[in-house]
Amino acid sequence: MSQIEIDHLTKRYRDGSSNFIVAVEDLTLELEGGEFLVLVGPSGCGKSTTLRCIAGLESVSEGEIRFGGNPVTDATPEERNIAMVFQNYALYPHMTARQNLAFGLKMTTDLTQEQREKRAVEAARMLGIEDLLDDKPKELSGGQQQRVALGRAIVREPEVFLMDEPLSNLDAKLRAQMRMEIQQLQQDLGVTTVYVTHDQTEAMTMGDRIAVLDGGNLQQVGTPLECYYEPANLFVANFIGEPSMNFFSMTVDGGSLASDTLQYDLSDQHRDAVAGNTAVTLGIRPEDVKVVESAGRNTFTGTVIVVEPMGDQNFLHLDVGGVEVTTAVAGEYEVAEGADVMLSFPESRIHLFETNSGRALINCQRHSAEIPTVSDVGGETV
Ligand code: ATP
Repeated sequence: MSQIEIDHLTKRYRDGSSNFIVAVEDLTLELEGGEFLVLVGPSGCGKSTTLRCIAGLESVSEGEIRFGGNPVTDATPEERNIAMVFQNYALYPHMTARQNLAFGLKMTTDLTQEQREKRAVEAARMLGIEDLLDDKPKELSGGQQQRVALGRAIVREPEVFLMDEPLSNLDAKLRAQMRMEIQQLQQDLGVTTVYVTHDQTEAMTMGDRIAVLDGGNLQQVGTPLECYYEPANLFVANFIGEPSMNFFSMTVDGGSLASDTLQYDLSDQHRDAVAGNTAVTLGIRPEDVKVVESAGRNTFTGTVIVVEPMGDQNFLHLDVGGVEVTTAVAGEYEVAEGADVMLSFPESRIHLFETNSGRALINCQRHSAEIPTVSDVGGETV
């Protein structure tokens, strides 16, 4: 039995003119016990509304939510045994970290002061903030305040963590560190977690699975790698991955795809995949666009518009037949802006989508990643 079931959830709001806004439409999702699910999508896609419905902070318009098989749709937040962490840490400014950690327990449990203290100290130890227990929020950095906010959720020993953009207020480096810490903590505690973010990097790096939302509708739910390599549609292909996938609008022309400026030859497998379609969109990720020495099958000339050095690699932004294309090359690769380079789009790495519906017709072939064994690399077993 799933720990959390969201069963055909719809949430409508009324706007100022009494018109309905459908924030979430017919959403069905199931989470296993201990799973870390990330709800991701652009601003306004309905992710916070979904989280608030799971928390019991919003009523639902249609559908049911169940915890451990039991309906909780009409239960209060207190009855659901959840703990929430928000973007703004919402700590009590006049209380120390220790008091902030223990305060919720005082209000919602009949634990003794000694028991509350013990839980606060344990959570602080887990989060590496033991030395800060007697400091007030204004004496703490943003990262330390967010740790206290996380600690406040941990001490409650809930069945479910609900986190709404908890890292948005932190700088990039701290965010990356906290991503790992939250993930580790969640694994150690084994508490089922729903985590909301608009940041696809957070989704890719943290979630056991990702649910991608757009306009209140679920676009895809899958592991990060499934969403990356096997996007269900153009929206997911575009949203997941940084820099984004490159796209070309093409028409099917016998055994090839054509636009005003490009022609792409298809093998039988891809020809079969597009059969019956007239307008398709070819997608290829930046790392799959290869700079090659000479022209060949499915190679195209690209004019370098901008070189974006990242250190270990450069992103080249090029003009290919009037379409802006991004490719990733080694950091040492030097090329001048304005130069022409030859690019190959290997057929095994392309995605094809039905242009009108956006539905994926065929995705790229996954690399079969084989991790070398100790004997392969000539090492010794220790
Ligand atoms: P963000 O990342 O910007 O927080 P989100 O994906 O979390 O966005 P929601 O906050 O869930 O999106 O909002 C979904 C839609 O519902 C939006 O169109 C929003 O304007 C609308 N909405 C949310 N809350 C209310 C409300 N209380 N009253 C009216 N409309 C609302």
